[in-house]
Amino acid sequence: MLAPALTNALTIDVEDYFQVSAFAPYIRRDEWDTRECRVERNVGRILDMLAAQHTRATFFTLGWVAERYPQLVRRIVDGGHELASHGYGHQRASELSEAEFSDDVTRAKRILEDISGKAVLGYRAPSFSIGTSNLWAFDVLARAGYRYSSSIYPIKHDHYGMPDSPRFAYRVSSGVLEIPVTTLRLGNRNLPSSGGGYFRLLPYALSRWMLRRVNQHDRESAIFYFHPWEIDTEQPRVAGIDAKTRFRHYVNIPRMEPRLRALLADFRWGRMDEIFLDRAVVAAA
Ligand SMILES: [Zn+2]
Repeated sequence: MLAPALTNALTIDVEDYFQVSAFAPYIRRDEWDTRECRVERNVGRILDMLAAQHTRATFFTLGWVAERYPQLVRRIVDGGHELASHGYGHQRASELSEAEFSDDVTRAKRILEDISGKAVLGYRAPSFSIGTSNLWAFDVLARAGYRYSSSIYPIKHDHYGMPDSPRFAYRVSSGVLEIPVTTLRLGNRNLPSSGGGYFRLLPYALSRWMLRRVNQHDRESAIFYFHPWEIDTEQPRVAGIDAKTRFRHYVNIPRMEPRLRALLADFRWGRMDEIFLDRAVVAAA
């Protein structure tokens, strides 16, 4: 008899197209308020898609977005989804001092909780920016009242990654549960298998195979992530960016929505807190 299907975690990093870290050299933070905002309508489309599939998810939401679109935060919560934090201003944790990081994650949590009336337990660092150089971030998260984080990508990448960290959920010394986004172990390498640009770049059948393998071979829930701007074929193009950044941001955007629909149908999905928070996990350093 087949083992029952695992529930995987569906996660959305709620930010707008002009806030992605790769655009930071081209778009100043003080220009954000002058840009056309697309996040509200894009998250609205995602919420409709999830409702049609009776699927609930975790929305790691920027404090900056929540302040400007409080009704969007309420729609997320009213839809039965988990509201979690992506920090306030989308600065990489690795570029902040401990005090600055503490201000950012505390401010975001307070804004999200004030608007939603719900406790915010989860945090995801912008661009998976917790790694060997700033493990103190977990102490800060614990002090700020977060119970889990999904901020480490156990791969090698030019902008982020901690390839030697555990691939599955583990308790860090501060007591926070770190739930790394999903990788596939092949030989002695971890391959990214959890969404983002890789999901748009690779054929869908390969992404599906990798996630199935994590479910069936590792017997672990996968963590998948994407961004509202990834389903937005009409987002304003950012001019003057280098070729690599342009490719990574825009590759296969028109294919994203149909692929997401397939993904929702092919796997069972749920919220991070419901999958992980009450489950016993292996303690690690
Ligand atoms: Zn982000």
